[in-house]
Amino acid sequence: MTQARRTFLVMLGVPGAGKGTQARLLEEALGIPQISTGDLFRYNLKNQTELGLLAKSYMDRGELVPDEVTILMVQDRIQREDCQKGAIFDGFPRNLVQAVALDQMTAGDGGIRRVLMFNLDDDEAMRRITGRRTCPVCGTVYHVDYNPPKVEGRCDLEGAELVQRDDDKPETVKTRLYVYYKQTSPLVGYYFAKGLLTEIDGTQPIDEVQAQLLAVVQSEPVA
Ligand code: ADP
Ligand code: AMP
Repeated sequence: MTQARRTFLVMLGVPGAGKGTQARLLEEALGIPQISTGDLFRYNLKNQTELGLLAKSYMDRGELVPDEVTILMVQDRIQREDCQKGAIFDGFPRNLVQAVALDQMTAGDGGIRRVLMFNLDDDEAMRRITGRRTCPVCGTVYHVDYNPPKVEGRCDLEGAELVQRDDDKPETVKTRLYVYYKQTSPLVGYYFAKGLLTEIDGTQPIDEVQAQLLAVVQSEPVA
């Protein structure tokens, strides 16, 4: 019996564009997990692993964690049971070396199915990032104005006190935006040339972005 082709999607866009928010909504709709490299590094840091401590020094500066460790971490992650139907990449790849590595990892499944590019300007990205709050227990992402929890400062699902990421301070965000334009934005051309790119208007409210995304991915022949 031949195994069905896995569905691999990539979310691209500036920090704060809404990739994580939408990836979490899509994983329910499609039944495939979100793989956020940022979340994986933060999980390792919380557990004080060697990888987490290494990643911290880069994350604190808003720079990219070296490709070798990042790629190995993703390779390991997609071999897990929950990825048997595919995965939604959020925050990976972040440069051409990682993009080529991902092409190789997904080659057996016919490559990446689609790349969703969220368009958003820097000023709005800055507002979104500085207002972002996260549940330390379940990882649900809120925004103090755009997507507030029911009870101020508390997760709707866990009741835990929401936290602000260390790297969401304006000085670090500026570096992260610079790193995005320098290293990640060339991927827009890379995927466009492969015919994989779909642009999404990231300025719309969360549910409208979700509807646009669903229309795109559901028009794809998902295995
Ligand atoms: P990314 O994963 O691209 O860095 P997030 O999904 O974490 O971005 O979103 C950044 C912040 O913006 C969060 O606080 C989130 O609640 C908020 N947000 C996400 N999408 C939207 C949207 N369409 N409109 C308004 N706020 C949004
Ligand atoms: P994110 O959660 O996607 O905003 O990422 C937070 C930080 O984690 C980034 O600023 C980087 O330091 C690091 N990081 C996340 N994904 C990658 C990646 N694919 N390659 C290198 N570093 C990454």
